[in-house]
Formats: sequence, structure tokens, C-alpha cells
Amino acid sequence: MATVVTEPQTSKIPIKQTKILIDNKWVPSVSGKTFDTINPATGQVLASVAEADAADVDLAVKAARKAFHSKAHWRRMSASERGKLINRLADLIEKNADELATLESLDNGKPKHVAAAADLPLVIACYRYYAGWADKIQGKTIPISGDYFCYTRHEPVGVVGQIIPWNFPLLMQAWKLAPALACGNTVVLKVAEQTPLSALRVGELILEAGFPEGVVNILPGYGPTAGGAIARHMDIDKVAFTGSTEVGHLIMKAAADTNLKRVTLELGGKSPNIVFADADMNEAVEGSHFALFFNQGQCCCAGSRVFVEEKVYDEFVSRSTERAKRRVVGNPLDKKTEQGPQVDKDQFDKVLGYVESGKKEGAKLQCGGERIGEHGYFVAPTVFADVKDDMKIAQEEIFGPVMSILKFKDMDELVDRANKTIYGLAAAVWTRDIGKAHHIANNVRAGTVWVNCFDVFDAAAPFGGFKQSGLGRELGEYGLQQYSEIKTVTVKL
Ligand code: NAP
Ligand code: MG
Repeated sequence: MATVVTEPQTSKIPIKQTKILIDNKWVPSVSGKTFDTINPATGQVLASVAEADAADVDLAVKAARKAFHSKAHWRRMSASERGKLINRLADLIEKNADELATLESLDNGKPKHVAAAADLPLVIACYRYYAGWADKIQGKTIPISGDYFCYTRHEPVGVVGQIIPWNFPLLMQAWKLAPALACGNTVVLKVAEQTPLSALRVGELILEAGFPEGVVNILPGYGPTAGGAIARHMDIDKVAFTGSTEVGHLIMKAAADTNLKRVTLELGGKSPNIVFADADMNEAVEGSHFALFFNQGQCCCAGSRVFVEEKVYDEFVSRSTERAKRRVVGNPLDKKTEQGPQVDKDQFDKVLGYVESGKKEGAKLQCGGERIGEHGYFVAPTVFADVKDDMKIAQEEIFGPVMSILKFKDMDELVDRANKTIYGLAAAVWTRDIGKAHHIANNVRAGTVWVNCFDVFDAAAPFGGFKQSGLGRELGEYGLQQYSEIKTVTVKL
């Protein structure tokens, strides 16, 4: 086994910000409470962070509402100025990319070199992409009957509440802030309790970029308290949430019970990754490994149900097992590390619980399945073969480095089996046959389908879920719709 764990180095990066950002000021929580954020590679406390609650959400909403007033600076600013501000933020993130990648690695556990090479470039590109849209968001003129001039205006929704998870803290912040700001909204953002540090550092850069008071408010805090207060708030016009399907249900219910705020949801997945016998097997094995194990397996779109055609099943299982055994697990600050720890003890326990369930239900454990080391939350890369459709590990989101391989005979049974979960976030197919590729692309019920690739993300391409994987789309031009209200104006001539 080539996996190694070295003692994580203590980083020299100072943690600059641990307070709440409201109305362009850094403040402690109203209650005075704080919570600890830990380094999952060591289990040690990194910092104590202000704990926002309903009272802080109230103050943030007041600031955001004031900033949204028709006479406020933000609303009077030209659309191109808005774009310039967002571009300035992108420049500042780029300038501080190394520090942000370190913070992301320390707080989340992901390898720093991966954060620097994958997360940060996508973050910067997302802000730049939406900065470009700011002055291109426009309505239509409509030829209605009679002597009227009819046109539409695409206006901001208003005060937007946003709740993000811990798996890609900087990227989820960018996916939320960039389109909301490009469209002219003001924001109250709750960051995940496990990973508040990088988002708060971006808050400092938002001030440095020159955003007006109250436009972006950032609150570290817990879901049921601060998050719940956002979902239930009577003066928030829209809530955008990324996280579990379970909490997605709560968000929608809270919106329904209060002011019918608009709801967009980016939720879980159990995405089929389909390997046909005619695929380039080197690419299919490596691509499927990446599809599952990337980011410690903590991806909503992870290729977590690997369907392999009978003819190549044994070869695929043995090669995927070999690859998983070679995966380098260890110190997230080491350049050789492919996999760091799971984000916290809850997730670590949950993942190992799924491993037990897989064994109990009769799946064949090929490798892994246990903890690595004595400190931190490292899980050995795990592969299960002979997984059956109804097993818990084939139905529920594991969110960890656990690959489940299933066998299929032909296309007829395949599509129905691929669609047999509550989710519909993503899918992938590996084949040299263009007919098979398009058949899967057309018939799998998922918001994204990758053909002979996986996890190809771009700010210009929309992302989101069918079924219980979500509501609405993020990114691309489609993402703008979720942050705009359409107004029809009719003028008698
Ligand atoms: P989660 O509970 O859904 O957390 C996501 C965000 O929602 C966090 O900011 C969380 O706050 C907040 N939240 C939690 N309960 C809330 C409530 N009642 N009202 C409003 N906001 C609330 O997810 P998790 O517990 O971190 O992870 C559990 C599972 O969710 C994972 O195992 C995985 O299956 C799934 N997940 C999916 C994604 C994704 O990208 N789709 C991301 C993360 C997790 P806290 O900071 O207090 O948690
Ligand atoms: Mg942490």
C-alpha cells in the first residue's frame, strides 16, 4: 500500500479575519458567542469565529435592505460600474490566491496544490464571467396588440439570502455572490460552520475592492440557527441554498411558511458513471477514479455508482482497486498528496458507517474501508465490487472516498437502473460509440452529462439538478434568471 500520512505542518499563514461582516464593518456576534473551526488533518482548533444567529441575520438583512433602496449608491451605480467592482474582486482574489489556497486547505483538509490548481482558477473565472454580464442583462421590446409600447426590464430580486456548504467553500461563495451581484442584488451569505475562514478573507477583499456598505454581508454560524433565520426571514426576497437534500426540503418549507421567497436549491446526488466495454480502458479507469475520489469524495456530483459492462467488469474492478491502493493520502500541504482528511468527525463517522453497511449487505470490499493514522479524519480509499442497486451504498450519498461498482449486461436495463434513485444531478458515460454516448446523454435524468470526461466545470456552462437534486440552475447565462425579476412595462402611445 503506497498511501502515506505525514504529520501535517503548521502553517505560517496568519488568520486575519474571524468576525461577522455586516454593513462593511467587522463585528462580533450580538450574543458574543464564538465557535471553533478545526483543521481536519490534525483535529486541532485553527481559530475561534464569531457565531452569527437570528439577531445577526436581522442586522445583516437591515443593512442589505438599506443598500437595496432605490436611492442607495449600489442601485444608482451604472451596470458597468458593478461589473468593474466584481472584476476588481477577481483581481484581488488572484493576487491573494496562494494565501486563500492555504486557508482553504487548512480549514477544509483538501490538498493545497489542488485548491491552487483547481478551486482558485474556477473561483476567479466565475467572478470575471459574471462581471462581464453585469452590463449585458437586458429585457426585450414586445409587439403586443394595439397602440402600445411594451418592454421588459430584468431587475434584481432584492435582498438575497445564501447558504453554502463546506466542500468547496471559495467556489460555492463565488457561484452564489457573482451572479447575484452582477444582477444588482444585495446579499446575506451564511458560510458553513466547518469552513468559515476563506470566505471571511474574501470579505476583506470585498471591502478592499470598494463595494458599497451593506451590499455583501457574510455570516459564519450554524445551519438550524443562522441558516434557519435566513430561510424564515420575512424581508429576504430569495434564498439560494447548496447542501443536502434533507435540508433542501426544510428551506423550501420555511420559504412556503413565511413570505414565499424565491428558492433555488443545489442538492445531493448519486450520479451514475457508466463504462462500456468499448471505452478506452486507461481513460475510463483513471477518469472514474477521479470522478469518485476527487475532493476526498466530497462532491455533490461524484460518480458514485459505477456501472460497468459485464465483458470488462473483472478487468475494471481489478484495475480500479489497484489505482485506489496507489492513491496518496496524507498531509494536505504536501505536493504529493492526492487525498486529505474528510472535513470533520461527523462526516468521517458517516463515511465509515456506510462502509459497514456495504459489508453487511454483501458488497465485496476490494480495498480500504478503514481509518488511516491516529490523528485527523483520514479514510483509506475504498472500493466495493458486486454492489446491487438496492443496497444503501448504491442509493444514499456517501460523500466520501468510497467507490461502488455495479455490473450491467446491456443498454436496455442500464438506463432504468441508472435513473433508479431520488437524485438527478450528473452522469457520465465512457465509450467510443457515439450512438451509445448520445443515447445515455438523452435518456439519463440528470442536469449534467459528461462523455469521456468528468467534473469539467466552466462558469459559462449551467449546473444543477433534476428530481431531488435541486431546483434551478447555477452558472452560465441561465444562472442570471435565478437572480432577476422580469418586469413588463406597457406604455400607451
Ligand atoms: P447540510 O446540513 O445540508 O449543510 C449545508 C449548509 O446548510 C451549511 O451551511 C449548513 O450549516 C446549512 N444548514 C444546515 N441545516 C440547516 C437548516 N435547518 N436551515 C438552514 N441551513 C441549514 O450538509 P452537511 O450536514 O454539512 O452535510 C451532510 C450531507 O449533505 C453530506 O454528507 C452530503 O451528503 C450533503 N452535502 C451536499 C453538498 C452539495 O454540494 N450538494 C455539500 C455539502 C454536503 P452548518 O454549517 O451548521 O452545517
Ligand atoms: Mg474547519
